[in-house]
Amino acid sequence: MSDNAALVARLQGILMLRRNEPLAKHTSFRIGGPADLYAQARSREQLLAAVQAAWETGTPTLLLGGGSNLLVLDGGVRGVVIETRARSVTGLPAAPLPPGEVVEIVAEAGAPLAALARRTAALGLAGLEWAVDLPGTVGGAVVNNAGAHGGEMAGVLVAAELLEPEGTVSWWPTAALGLAYRTSRLKVAPLGQPRPVVLAAKIRLQAADPLSLRAALTRYSQYRRATQPVGACAGSMFKNPPDQAAGWYIEQAGMKGAQVGAVQVSEIHGNFMLNLGGARATDVLRLVERVQEAVWRRFGVSLELEIQVVGEAA
Ligand SMILES: Cc1cc2nc3c(=O)[nH]c(=O)nc-3n(C[C@H](O)[C@H](O)[C@H](O)COP(=O)(O)OP(=O)(O)OC[C@H]3O[C@@H](n4cnc5c(N)ncnc54)[C@H](O)[C@@H]3O)c2cc1C
Repeated sequence: MSDNAALVARLQGILMLRRNEPLAKHTSFRIGGPADLYAQARSREQLLAAVQAAWETGTPTLLLGGGSNLLVLDGGVRGVVIETRARSVTGLPAAPLPPGEVVEIVAEAGAPLAALARRTAALGLAGLEWAVDLPGTVGGAVVNNAGAHGGEMAGVLVAAELLEPEGTVSWWPTAALGLAYRTSRLKVAPLGQPRPVVLAAKIRLQAADPLSLRAALTRYSQYRRATQPVGACAGSMFKNPPDQAAGWYIEQAGMKGAQVGAVQVSEIHGNFMLNLGGARATDVLRLVERVQEAVWRRFGVSLELEIQVVGEAA
């Protein structure tokens, strides 16, 4: 029995399992070849069962949240891709709290971050306004230390509950997670090897005036609508160099609108690439190279990818 067959035998009937599932269906870029096996964990129990079975059968494992920061290569992903849909949130107050009061909520890894930002703001809880309209899940946001509008996960995260490759489950305080600009210790472990899985996040929020929170959400949403394109993409392609936004370098290097196959550098925001329809990962990689070359030639600045590239070439 191959490793995958052993895993199928363990997980069949426990959670949704598919063979050769096109990952283009599960990424915001709408790009990506098939996963040998695709499992969708809709509860904490399913997530634990899927990951533990994958590790115990020696199956290469990739965790997927919203797939909003990934470029999956055209040959797809060997082993199993486990999508986290466990999304319950506990600790939310039943009634408005006096301004200044602090609460700690616990969100499961599959909880959509943007919805959580809207829900907590509507309850008069400040802390996650920056995450309005930020695609993806709480788990992915912890791994990437997602951030926007001057806020980031590191600013609100108290601890993350991790399942570790040895099978232990424990809460890690934020300081132990090594959160830095769009990265963490959870992200740097080599892909393909067992990496800790985020099960849940404890987030600290503070009661505040709901009207001012609503105003902040509106402001941030409007800013996004005015500055970012609509369409299939993975958000910012490159990390911002220390002195200037990556999008600025890309625009100054004349690369806005540049296109390879069906992938285009957005005309609206130089750091976004859009899948115009049916794009392939190889096209994205070629366009990435062209952009990097152009910026290097003009400024001597080397742009580093913010998105993660996973899987195999076709
Ligand atoms: C239109 C658009 C706008 C964006 N704007 C921003 C922005 O303003 N700021 C910003 O920071 N990002 C932004 N992004 C990028 C993306 O939304 C964030 O990086 C987001 O936090 C990724 O979450 P995800 O759930 O989609 O993670 P995925 O892309 O699914 O995964 C990212 C990484 O986390 C790992 N992972 C996911 N879940 C778990 C888990 N439970 N346990 C362990 N590992 C896990 C994956 O294996 C992968 O390595 C944007 C993306 C888009 C498409």
